[in-house]
Amino acid sequence: MNEKMYGTAPLTARLEPWMEELVGNPTLCKELIDAHGSPVNVHEYGAMGRNVSELRTAAVAHQIDFQIYFARKANKTLGAIDRAVREGCGVDVASLNELRQCLDRGVPADRIIVSAAVKPKALLHLAITSGVTISLDNEDELRDSIALADDKGGQLTVALRLAIDHPAIPPTRFGLPASRWLQILSDAEPGSAIEVAGIHFHLNGYDAHARSLGIHEALHVIEQLRIMGHEPSFVDMGGGIPMSYLDSAEQWKDFWARLALLPDDDESLTWKSDRLGASGGIPGSAVYPYYQGLIRGAWLEQVLAYVPEPGSKAIGSALLDAQIQLRCEPGRSLMDGCGLTLSEVAFKKKRSDGVPLVGLHMNRTQCRSTSADFLLDPVLVHAAPSNRKRTFDSAFLVGAYCIEEELLLRRRFEFPAGVAAGDLIAFPNTAGYLMHIVESASHQLPLAANVLWDGYEWVADDIDQMRL
Ligand SMILES: *Cc1c(COP(=O)(O)O)cnc(C)c1O
Repeated sequence: MNEKMYGTAPLTARLEPWMEELVGNPTLCKELIDAHGSPVNVHEYGAMGRNVSELRTAAVAHQIDFQIYFARKANKTLGAIDRAVREGCGVDVASLNELRQCLDRGVPADRIIVSAAVKPKALLHLAITSGVTISLDNEDELRDSIALADDKGGQLTVALRLAIDHPAIPPTRFGLPASRWLQILSDAEPGSAIEVAGIHFHLNGYDAHARSLGIHEALHVIEQLRIMGHEPSFVDMGGGIPMSYLDSAEQWKDFWARLALLPDDDESLTWKSDRLGASGGIPGSAVYPYYQGLIRGAWLEQVLAYVPEPGSKAIGSALLDAQIQLRCEPGRSLMDGCGLTLSEVAFKKKRSDGVPLVGLHMNRTQCRSTSADFLLDPVLVHAAPSNRKRTFDSAFLVGAYCIEEELLLRRRFEFPAGVAAGDLIAFPNTAGYLMHIVESASHQLPLAANVLWDGYEWVADDIDQMRL
């Protein structure tokens, strides 16, 4: 547990050595805030190498051909792209600008896949003219792509996004069922040069067996495609590879157990006794499972070792026999350990009924994903000027948007060593989604600056110079 700040029910974040070093150096933290403003997103991508090799080791054990595509929407920095490419990965892009920036950065076309949920013609055009594989979501996209490729006289290289059809997997808005794709392809005008290079799917949640079932179905579709004369070479199982932000399963269990016992008007744990979507001490899908036991390599091992039907081969052997490359598109779990968000305390005060508040130079879109809360204890860095007196309350963190519900985090925090305006608060391990996915410039407040460690010093990431 961090001794200067922790949740009233603590959730102690796992910190990388570089994070420990940074938060242990108040002078450096202050310099970063003074140079770049508050908050500032700080990146050190060293952990990406470890994350990649955990996955590769599991794939090597099954002797399968394996490739990782970093899902760029998880973190917008160009430094993350550079590092992913240096680690031998490709990049999964979700928009025209993401694609353009990757190409401009020198990512080879065959290391990019376009998986955007909706694809404007300009995006399809750039992908086709650069030779980047497009993951097709639907028939209209296929028609738009064929028309553009015909204009160019070019080859169209696609993956088909498969909506997995299995009772254990919930319905999805993404992709089409196998039967529909096969029908569309056999109806396509002869002469249109479509090359189906692979099958793609991406599932909600983190269940290993669901991925096994998806790969199993994709391999069936590949058999059909081969009969139709296509030469698919990969199955891409998308992202959702789990990671764990916490070391302690106990803390995670204890937090939800205590939240379940909280009376309705009791704010000792959360703002307005917010249950964060839990019921009966069990966290719901409103929050990311910040503690997970089975992650990355061990998780992939489960995917590959699974036998989908009695008497059939394990998924790893089936891929090997079919000579099919397995691809994945991790976002969050690749960025694990690669960033933190540093912010400055602006004020301390009390809500009109006496509840203590700590205000930060930051708004709540700057450390948040689409889920109900960021469930890690921040780290307090004592950096306040000596003329500010520290107080010792337990308090909520509030931010810059002019709404009553502008809580940076929904949990209550203890400050046993006190806190004062000018102190700094670090939000750990935010690089995967928690900095960028919902950040907003509302109120004309500028977006947070992004810096990275280049091996010698902290420098600005080029993304903040890009115009969209
Ligand atoms: C979001 C997304 C990913 C990345 O998911 P993570 O949970 O960050 O691993 C990969 N592929 C597709 C198609 C996505 O939409």
